[in-house]
Amino acid sequence: MIFPLIGNEKTALTVNNFIKEQRIPHAILIVGESGVGKHTLADFLAKAIVCGKDTAPCGECENCRAALSNNHPDITTIAPEDNKKNIAVDKVRELRQEAFIRPHKAQKRVFVIDKADTMNAASQNALLKVLEEPPEAVMFLLIAENNAAFLDTVISRCVALNLTVPEREKAVALLSENRKYSREDIISALDSAQNNIGRAKRILSGKAGTKAETAAEEFLKYLFDNDQYNMLLVTNAFAKKRVDSDAFLKALKNAVAKRIKADPKSHFAKPLMAFYNEILSCEQQLLFNINLNLFFSNLVCSAIQILWRNK
Ligand SMILES: [Zn+2]
Repeated sequence: MIFPLIGNEKTALTVNNFIKEQRIPHAILIVGESGVGKHTLADFLAKAIVCGKDTAPCGECENCRAALSNNHPDITTIAPEDNKKNIAVDKVRELRQEAFIRPHKAQKRVFVIDKADTMNAASQNALLKVLEEPPEAVMFLLIAENNAAFLDTVISRCVALNLTVPEREKAVALLSENRKYSREDIISALDSAQNNIGRAKRILSGKAGTKAETAAEEFLKYLFDNDQYNMLLVTNAFAKKRVDSDAFLKALKNAVAKRIKADPKSHFAKPLMAFYNEILSCEQQLLFNINLNLFFSNLVCSAIQILWRNK
């Protein structure tokens, strides 16, 4: 498998050569601002390391399958603990000890250190010991927004891979891939995000959220009209992708809650409450791989039944 890394083709070429020649450096420092694909790259490299083939990650072997389900015993990620700014020195010492344990399943073990630039000097020095004399079968992937916070000694032990924001047209092409957004929306999102793909994606999915809110209001309007046909039409647009279905259901839940709050004495308040609970249980169903069209037609049926069965 070749890693594309749009807009960072040179880095991608380096990475692909590392894998092809089976010469992945034992410590890699991935640097770039938030949203440029550092985690995607680290994830890809970690999978390639445990797979170990010259076509890694092959996606088929036992190691790849375990890595794909985020369940590989030889991939360990550390990051600052919740509510903490830094990676504690104790954590680094623990990691160092663990690094001397043989791999469980793959030929190599990989340690991903996320937000590595939050390590203070003590933590970095603790890590340095293992970087200087690494156990044979161990690799380190450090992820950081910039390398100013690192000790020179740490930097000199790592091969740096720098990621930057892609050129405008490449960014547009990447975001147009799934045909979810219009070119106009993509360009305006990239303008606000200064071409940062991750940030632009967040802006665009915020727009998707707004779309879902409008649709949820429409859905309720048709529900009050007992208009099953148009309710189905509204949901159609959200039945193609899981993320859209999630967004719609969330918006619908909020819209129903708002109606109940606005007029708790209305004769619709009680059935709306029942419908609200129905949406909650539907949300659970979305966790499973179900047919989305079927899911929405069931939702419409139960909505109609709950609101109109006694009328
Ligand atoms: Zn594999």
